[in-house]
Amino acid sequence: MFKAFLIKYAEIAIKGKNRHLFEDALVHQIKMALKPVEGEFSITKEQGRIYIEALSEYDYQETVTQLSHVFGIVGICPVVLLEDEGFEKLSEDVISYLDARYPDKHKTFKVNARRARKDYPMESMEINAELGGRILDAFPDMKVDVHHPDIMVNVEIRKKINIYSEILPGPGGMPVGTNGKAMLLLSGGIDSPVAGYMTAKRGVAIDAVYFHAPPYTSERAKQKVVDLARILSAYTGPIHLHIVNFTDIQLYIYEKCPHEQLTIIMRRYMMRIAEHFAKETGSLGLITGESIGQVASQTMQSLAATNEVCTLPVYRPLIGFDKQEIIGVSEKIGTYETSILPYEDCCTIFVARHPVTKPNLNIIKRSEEKLAEKIETLVQEAISGAETIVVEP
Ligand code: ATP
Ligand code: MG
Repeated sequence: MFKAFLIKYAEIAIKGKNRHLFEDALVHQIKMALKPVEGEFSITKEQGRIYIEALSEYDYQETVTQLSHVFGIVGICPVVLLEDEGFEKLSEDVISYLDARYPDKHKTFKVNARRARKDYPMESMEINAELGGRILDAFPDMKVDVHHPDIMVNVEIRKKINIYSEILPGPGGMPVGTNGKAMLLLSGGIDSPVAGYMTAKRGVAIDAVYFHAPPYTSERAKQKVVDLARILSAYTGPIHLHIVNFTDIQLYIYEKCPHEQLTIIMRRYMMRIAEHFAKETGSLGLITGESIGQVASQTMQSLAATNEVCTLPVYRPLIGFDKQEIIGVSEKIGTYETSILPYEDCCTIFVARHPVTKPNLNIIKRSEEKLAEKIETLVQEAISGAETIVVEP
């Protein structure tokens, strides 16, 4: 029954002079999201509104699902757009709309009229009262409830008249691409995909880097990370995923450094390599899925030691989250089921039984000096041997 959607966006409407940039980015993201949907759409901006009109038959459910992935959208309103042909015609149309949309009439309602076009001959309050009366006459089982109506009948008098009574939730946030790009350290775990989602939600485009350690980690573990990137890309758009072979670096650290420091030293090399790719491809920061105290390598001391090798800012959007809260988001965004598949992770293969929880930076640096002979070559080899794939939904 709906041939159009009215898209509501909140945050981006308050950006002053930059507003049109944000709207254009949102329109672009909507276009990208609707590309795989069967059907033809026209997308237009009008006075702080975005309209999507179907020009052909289309899949309603798929359209709504795709739109619910677009950051910047607060509400998706299936809307009926009418030419202004006088109040009599409008009341008839509102009544047939309600009849078709709500087969069960045992409902309360409220008419919420807004006159954005002041040349319309009736004021909002008049429209509310008059239309409310007509609806009551047409459907005796319906009742008015001005505080908590089941159905909010929105009637907006604009260029066309907009009738809608449903606001399906969008993900909020800001359109991807309006806040630069960052490099996500993406593992196969639960946390890092959520960290990528949360950063992208603020308008940041995402690339990713994954470290694996074949043959200690399997092809299936790698595929799992590609799958996670693909799920994320439904929100972020295409992700350039750099897959780095970390085996020789890990073995070399294992050979030269005290085992209780392995995790911290490995993480420092991961950050260095991730930063290399970030700088090479225009990312403005690194993103990890760390949260304070979750494991030994995420104490305040460990995070400080990891951070120390980076010159770009490191964003840790989950820093204050409990595991359960992170799981909640991962279920909502659809990464959880993939994240819990039981494939080995390169970090867990060489972990010490008793890793340091309060690493001393000077001691760590002294251990790293033992790597002086070969580490630069190994890092360069890992970088030049990396495989980059573009992951899309
Ligand atoms: P996750 O669930 O994201 O794997 P985690 O709780 O297992 O996190 P760690 O293994 O300590 O924690 O990893 C902390 C962060 O370091 C991850 O969130 C991720 O950003 C990054 N990271 C860890 N391992 C890898 C890897 N193999 N490749 C890329 N990034 C990684
Ligand atoms: Mg992990």
